[in-house]
Amino acid sequence: MPTDYQATAARPAPRNDTTVDVIVLGAGVVGMATAYAAARRGLSVRLVDRAPGPGLGASFANGAQLSYAYTDALASPSLWSKFPRMALGLDRAFRMHWSADPDFLRWGLTFLRNTGHARFSENTLAVLKLALESRAAMQALLQRHRIDFDHAPAGKMHLYGDAETLAGAAAIVAIKRSHGAVQEVLSPRQAIDLEPALIHAPGLAGVVYSPQEEVGDPHRFCLGLLAVLQTDYALRTDFGFAVADLALGAEGVAVETRDHHRLQARHLVVCAGIESMALARRIGIRAPLVPMKGYSFTAPPGSHAPAISITDTRRKIVFCRLGDRMRVAGLAELGNGSIAPDPARSRLLVAMARESLPDAARYDLIDSTWAGLRPMTPDSVPIIRRARPGVVLNMGHGMLGWTLAMGAGERAIRLLLEE
Ligand SMILES: Cc1cc2nc3c(=O)[nH]c(=O)nc-3n(C[C@H](O)[C@H](O)[C@H](O)COP(=O)(O)OP(=O)(O)OC[C@H]3O[C@@H](n4cnc5c(N)ncnc54)[C@H](O)[C@@H]3O)c2cc1C
Repeated sequence: MPTDYQATAARPAPRNDTTVDVIVLGAGVVGMATAYAAARRGLSVRLVDRAPGPGLGASFANGAQLSYAYTDALASPSLWSKFPRMALGLDRAFRMHWSADPDFLRWGLTFLRNTGHARFSENTLAVLKLALESRAAMQALLQRHRIDFDHAPAGKMHLYGDAETLAGAAAIVAIKRSHGAVQEVLSPRQAIDLEPALIHAPGLAGVVYSPQEEVGDPHRFCLGLLAVLQTDYALRTDFGFAVADLALGAEGVAVETRDHHRLQARHLVVCAGIESMALARRIGIRAPLVPMKGYSFTAPPGSHAPAISITDTRRKIVFCRLGDRMRVAGLAELGNGSIAPDPARSRLLVAMARESLPDAARYDLIDSTWAGLRPMTPDSVPIIRRARPGVVLNMGHGMLGWTLAMGAGERAIRLLLEE
């Protein structure tokens, strides 16, 4: 897959004959959902992306989880006990790329300030609220339009290997249940009765089961939603155009592409994933984002492939049945902004998956491996806010961008219409 989109072959210059209501900058899951939220309200929309098509950034081959109940913030009280191992590089699944960049340091300090009990609960519940809005928005979309993306109500199990971490997880479940999450704690026996593939999971102390979680292929979703938007809503697209600058004026907003085309609109929503921070800075906005690189691979199902999505919390790996394939995702490299996959890290993910569920996938027949950058805020709460007149930011969806995209799109367009 091309990642150097500047090398994309010559394409026609974008037309600038009319001023549209909204430019959506970025065609990942968040941008696609935002474009839909605008178009279904009758606004004219122009979608601009440097890539040759939608969903080719962090949204391409992620863990595929629509994780509406598991919204736990990354900065948590339990992090302190794990932090020394993580910081010293002793946690295989986690790597820290230290940097002296003031933005990185500021992000780190804010992250640490969010690890207290009160902030953790507040952040987890704020994301849960958005996740539940997202589920409703996804249901409404799919009632109106048929989109094939291996969408399934698979349910999800989080596996815990010791009584202490299970008890910590159970306490968070209790808080989230009183705010609408459907989750329960199961014994290993109860979990194996529901998901026989767990018979091969080593050292299981208990499971958090979220029966209403769903799965779906985010890239196929982007392609399907693009087709709907083009046929039913007359969306205009400008793929292959990298935006270099944003400008504000009395007439609205403008984006300037690297090859000096200027596109005008009454409103702009910035949904450019990890690049959103640099773009927001062009109009004087500092918004804290740090990349957290992750990996995935896709393979045929093995002899004991789970039907329910499985997260191994010790190894921080997710297993997901996507139609007739298994998607396995994991690893976290905080501060690593390089999109290039490191073959050693890809191999590590496969090795850890084998340890976790040895027969979940045909590890000898892997179709594809991939790496992507999760756009992380320090509190795990996405930034959806009006930044300047006519400009809304929709960024920083972190580990849960696929889950949160539909609700985030709705919120962003509601903000824009309130102006
Ligand atoms: C390994 C891994 C596993 C994950 N698993 C899950 C999961 O199971 N469930 C879940 O909910 N989330 C998951 N995520 C997180 C999720 O993938 C992201 O949060 C989400 O994809 C972010 O979407 P986005 O639209 O904001 O960004 P992107 O998908 O990166 O889209 C941004 C778009 O903006 C475009 N762009 C950027 N800069 C410019 C520019 N200057 N000009 C023009 N276009 C530009 C890019 O080309 C891109 O298309 C995972 C992430 C990773 C890496």
